[in-house]
Amino acid sequence: MNQKIFYNDRRARIHCMICRMILFILFIFTTSVFNMAQEIDILLKGGHLIDPKNKIDAPADIAISKGRIFKVAPSISPENARKTVDVKGYYVTPGLIDIHTHVFVGPGEGFANGFSSVSPDDFTFKAGITTVVDAGTSGWRNFPVFKKQVIDRSQTRVLSFLNIAGSGMTGFPSEEDINDMDARMTSLVAGQFPDIIVGVKIGHYRGSDWTPFDRAVEAAKIAGVPLLVECHLPLLPLEGILERMKPGDIYTHSFCVASDRTCLLDEQAKIRPCVAEAKKKGVRFDVGHGGGMFHFNVAIPAFRNGLLPDSFGSDLHRSSMNSGMKNMLDIMSKYLNIGMTFEDIIFRATWNSALSVGREDLGQLSEGSVADIAVFSLRKGSFGFVDAGGNRLDGDRRIEAELTIRGGRIVWDQNGISARSWIENQIINF
Ligand SMILES: [Zn+2]
Repeated sequence: MNQKIFYNDRRARIHCMICRMILFILFIFTTSVFNMAQEIDILLKGGHLIDPKNKIDAPADIAISKGRIFKVAPSISPENARKTVDVKGYYVTPGLIDIHTHVFVGPGEGFANGFSSVSPDDFTFKAGITTVVDAGTSGWRNFPVFKKQVIDRSQTRVLSFLNIAGSGMTGFPSEEDINDMDARMTSLVAGQFPDIIVGVKIGHYRGSDWTPFDRAVEAAKIAGVPLLVECHLPLLPLEGILERMKPGDIYTHSFCVASDRTCLLDEQAKIRPCVAEAKKKGVRFDVGHGGGMFHFNVAIPAFRNGLLPDSFGSDLHRSSMNSGMKNMLDIMSKYLNIGMTFEDIIFRATWNSALSVGREDLGQLSEGSVADIAVFSLRKGSFGFVDAGGNRLDGDRRIEAELTIRGGRIVWDQNGISARSWIENQIINF
């Protein structure tokens, strides 16, 4: 009797094992068939891929499916692709991230919900940018308006630094009201929108009291996000500012001479010791070009002395957009002609910028990640680049955005490389 049970048990076990093996083989088979049959929505073929996060700097194809990066390989067959775009002769990179913009556009005066801000989609895709970070144009009080009015309605991914001033950039004197700088409320709202709010900003304060700065530091600490220092703080010494900043915090408007701050370089164009110390500590330095905050006579000696921007924030707003700045690509082209390598520029404009705002899901081309991609041409010729003081740098290369893909969709195509020729479609269908 016992022997029979044992026998039956053994048979059942063998039977079960065979079932499992069949199921496993079936699983492998169906998965591979599914993978082969999976439609590629867009295949970018023949380009030179630069993906600093994954240490790729080589010719490679990239396939997009359902808004995500499906495959990256030296060669991918166009057989299963709905659309194949020939990007031979172009660079293919992650979509760029501009970490300093003012995009809380609205009907009012000034920046917050005002006409001094700009609409992100008007500027981003034509420059290969797929993500912008608003630099504290809103505070905790008006962030919901900003979200509803701009963030939720833009095709560009819009992230935000929340201003320590409750209503953001409303100008003097309301923006500088210490009573409306609430660390608890700022961190609370930051915590409510962790996918959008990536940091806290301190921007404008004309007093010599450290309270606004300390409250911004506190809000960032509670929320566990970096602090962005947009340094219009004329009476607060640079040394004290940098001392209060923690590793990962960001100092913007780094390469300028302006009346409301101490230049990061001394009179001999050498990096100040407190700046070198901050850099060593892990403070990040952003360009923040804007209409008046980038000068070649600071940026070039800083570059030669080893103070490089961690990111190329444009400080885009209505009065900077048509100045020497133009857009983030123009800033990147300036650095290309100053002497930075193209690969290093792409690293700082993508993966390093993503790290600055704690968004490791962005700024890279890993399989499975969102398909935010830029295709660039590197034009050679005679070009001029203008800083915020009206000084020109002559250069021989300029980076231009050919194609921009946001979430797997083509949103910019400068020369129609993804479009069919009209000659193939001459029949008029009424
Ligand atoms: Zn700004």
